[in-house]
Amino acid sequence: MSSAQVIVVGSYVQDQTWFVDRFPRPGETLRANRYNTGPGGKGFNQAVACSRQGVPTAFIGALGEDTFATYAKKFAVDEKLECRWQICGDQPTATAGITVNANAENQITLILGANEHLDTDHVRAQDDLFASANIMLIQLENNLDALAAALDVAEKHHLTRVFNPAPVHKDLDAAMLRHADIITPNETEFSLLLERFAGEIVDPDALASTSADTMHTLARKLGVDTVVVTLGASGCFVSHGADRRGDPSAFYRIPGESVKAVDSTGAGDAFTGTLVAGLSRFAGKPFIFAVIHANRAAAMSTEFVGAASAMQSFDVVTRRFSA
Ligand code: ADP
Repeated sequence: MSSAQVIVVGSYVQDQTWFVDRFPRPGETLRANRYNTGPGGKGFNQAVACSRQGVPTAFIGALGEDTFATYAKKFAVDEKLECRWQICGDQPTATAGITVNANAENQITLILGANEHLDTDHVRAQDDLFASANIMLIQLENNLDALAAALDVAEKHHLTRVFNPAPVHKDLDAAMLRHADIITPNETEFSLLLERFAGEIVDPDALASTSADTMHTLARKLGVDTVVVTLGASGCFVSHGADRRGDPSAFYRIPGESVKAVDSTGAGDAFTGTLVAGLSRFAGKPFIFAVIHANRAAAMSTEFVGAASAMQSFDVVTRRFSA
């Protein structure tokens, strides 16, 4: 029987990065200075972040039948991350081609491949995982019917449903968003959700300096119990509905931690993955315990290059900020 406390249903993407002096022109072949490949995908990043926090985690996702699938499976085994892979013989494992120029700007080409062919039957077949876990986490890099099935099964087993609505999908509807207990949009996603589901036009760049009262009023319009908006270097904002999850305040800000950021790729994934781990580790304590820890782990992840590989352990994060 699985010991997983957290289930992540999500994407695997093999990140491939070429470091160049400048972007190639159309028709040009340009030699890169350096190359790196590693695991990515919002789902997998968040699962690794959660698992490295010491919380038994299971990942449900889809791969092709190729070299990158072999890489993904080995990485997961080395991480001791329990995985229930669906192998799609006719689809590639997802890849992202990332070109980074000398100014650290990037151009990314992404194919979601197998991630968009996750079978609802494959998700439902993992009922044993859902029966023994406490929390389920999804994002939006898979086909929506599979994610809707995951929400259904999680509800059936009374799991806390956490939804990182990233990237906002054109077919996402209000009912699916509101099927979650907790959502974790970043500033851009929060403003897109407000526009689509509440008819509110807000400038994402203005959110970090918007008053907490106004943020709370806006967040309540989404109709989700708990909304956690990540604000980059400015930290995050929490807004609860009727259930405050043990917090004394219905809404509050947590300022960003002071770090020497070198690569913010995957910071949002570090945040959400650590938040769900925190809900398990700090079970019975106010929600803010998990939020503070997630804000620290995400800040720290920006001090390392890479996505899944940049996720830090519980002890390392705790030691770094225990002053
Ligand atoms: P995303 O990567 O999804 O765009 P954000 O940029 O909002 O998400 O970052 C997620 C979280 O990472 C923030 O809420 C914060 O906790 C942390 N973070 C990101 N950038 C920094 C930074 N420069 N300094 C401190 N914390 C950061």
